[in-house]
Amino acid sequence: MEIIEGIGVSPGIAIAPAHKIERGEITIEPENIASEEVQEEIRRFREALQKSKDQLVRVQAAIAKTMGDESAAIIEAQIMLMSDVSVVDETIAGIKNKRLSAESALDIVLRKAIDALESADDATMAERAHDLIDVRRRILSNLMGMAHHVIQDVPENRILIIQHLAPSETAQLFHGKYVGLALEMGGATGHVAIMTRTMELPCVLGISNVTGLIESGDTVIVDGHDGTVIVNPTKTVLKKYKDRKKAQEKHKAWLIRFKDKLAVTTDGHKLSVGANLELPGEIETVVKYGSDGVGLFRTELLYTRSTKLPGEDEQTAVYKELADTIHPNSLVIRTFDIGGDKFAEILGTPFEPNPFLGWRAIRIGLSRPRVLKTQLRAILRAAYKRNIKIMFPMISNRDEVAQAIALLEESRDELEKEGIRCAKKIDVGIMVEVPSAAILSREIAPLVDFFSIGTNDLIQYTLAVDRGNQRIKDLYQSYNPAVLKLVKYTIDAAHFGGIWCGLCGEMAADPRATAMLIGMGLDEFSVNPPAVPMIKGIIRSISAKDARRIAEETLRFSTQDEVIEFLEEKNRELLPPEFLEI
Ligand code: PEP
Ligand code: MG
Repeated sequence: MEIIEGIGVSPGIAIAPAHKIERGEITIEPENIASEEVQEEIRRFREALQKSKDQLVRVQAAIAKTMGDESAAIIEAQIMLMSDVSVVDETIAGIKNKRLSAESALDIVLRKAIDALESADDATMAERAHDLIDVRRRILSNLMGMAHHVIQDVPENRILIIQHLAPSETAQLFHGKYVGLALEMGGATGHVAIMTRTMELPCVLGISNVTGLIESGDTVIVDGHDGTVIVNPTKTVLKKYKDRKKAQEKHKAWLIRFKDKLAVTTDGHKLSVGANLELPGEIETVVKYGSDGVGLFRTELLYTRSTKLPGEDEQTAVYKELADTIHPNSLVIRTFDIGGDKFAEILGTPFEPNPFLGWRAIRIGLSRPRVLKTQLRAILRAAYKRNIKIMFPMISNRDEVAQAIALLEESRDELEKEGIRCAKKIDVGIMVEVPSAAILSREIAPLVDFFSIGTNDLIQYTLAVDRGNQRIKDLYQSYNPAVLKLVKYTIDAAHFGGIWCGLCGEMAADPRATAMLIGMGLDEFSVNPPAVPMIKGIIRSISAKDARRIAEETLRFSTQDEVIEFLEEKNRELLPPEFLEI
């Protein structure tokens, strides 16, 4: 038996035989051709290129049916890479001028591009490099008459062991034969993490040399919550995980009873539990788990996963459909939060040494007003007679709020002048995720209709700890009193200004935090969709009076350990035992 630790990105336990896919490097030896072969080599190259594009278009169409157009747009990036004029021209030049075979000419061009991306020493560039590696493999396979590897070509019920998955491949896992995944590459905010959470497929990432450690046929346990992968478990361990899996499933089935219940405390204090949404296709999950609307629609995938900027009509259609699906509940659309870890080539986002402190989110929007206005116009159009709210990310000062609102008003004026129907009034909120915004929340509240606290970023900026850096993950303290004081201050500032306050970071889905947040006066939780019933259930088990006392006491501690110990103790005291199994 071997126990391997990685990063759990999609919860649940999977137990099944491994299916390892090791993609042998396609090695191309430089090969020269005779001058009379040039035309034939160019023809072969063009044919292989077309065939590769056709294959991807077919995959894209299949995905659009199951995962929605936005997921399909992910593959668009690879199709566009194949259409890159410089790649095509340079390959043909290599064949013509250097008398290289089609394989050699293409290989030289793509290797150069891959090396450049890989040497950038940046996680997102590395993801791009993987897309290009996948493109190289596909075209070369077609050129050499080899079939491109089919991810789904396996018996039912397997755990996929692979170094890296391209977006097109990840999307093939939807309704597929795999029950879990263990990968070497990828981060908690990458496409694999996002998509497997949607598909409710247990997934662990970040296991170095995973394909060296696990063989096809090995019995594997993937615990996507703890980030543990166990290879060939002993009988005792196997039984333990089988029992744990059964208990988790039973527990999930038990929690579902709360999905359509009101989020109200035992003494009648009413809250709201919304869901976070990344892909439009996830809306079914949002509905399935009884969410009180969408508290955060992260729109950046519309930008980062496509090779052209999403147009106004396209965005309007997406927003309208989502709002109609969750009607009469509301849809909070966050304007694009590109930059930081979310790279969008499309906006020419440059490589930056400190991307989290750089040109990100509203900063991009305010310096590229046309791009932001396209989104604002689409939101205003969709919001005509629909329950849509708008939210600006990464606000760090009051001027940015005023400027963003001015752009919103300009967009409305433009639409009205053009005679296009749009919402006359729309609620506007900001993400409070930068410490300065939290500290200035009293001054900012009069400008907006609501706040939503983004603890994922608020923690990293308050504590100066990169949220994606595994080496310092113990310093990323969600319960550091400095963070909790800012959360409390922001909620109070919202209420002082007569507006409501939500929380949409991962903390909202952590059962240890629920009572404390109710007690601090939070009005809305926004969580990943499967967590909605649990948070509703906890809210329904606690009185607002007890919660207030818990919040008060929590704020007296000076270390995270004390806070966690206290909150866990209070949960044991107050919650039905079913909530303690989580
Ligand atoms: C946050 O920062 O808490 C948040 C919800 O935004 P994101 O995770 O998209 O940065
Ligand atoms: Mg954030």
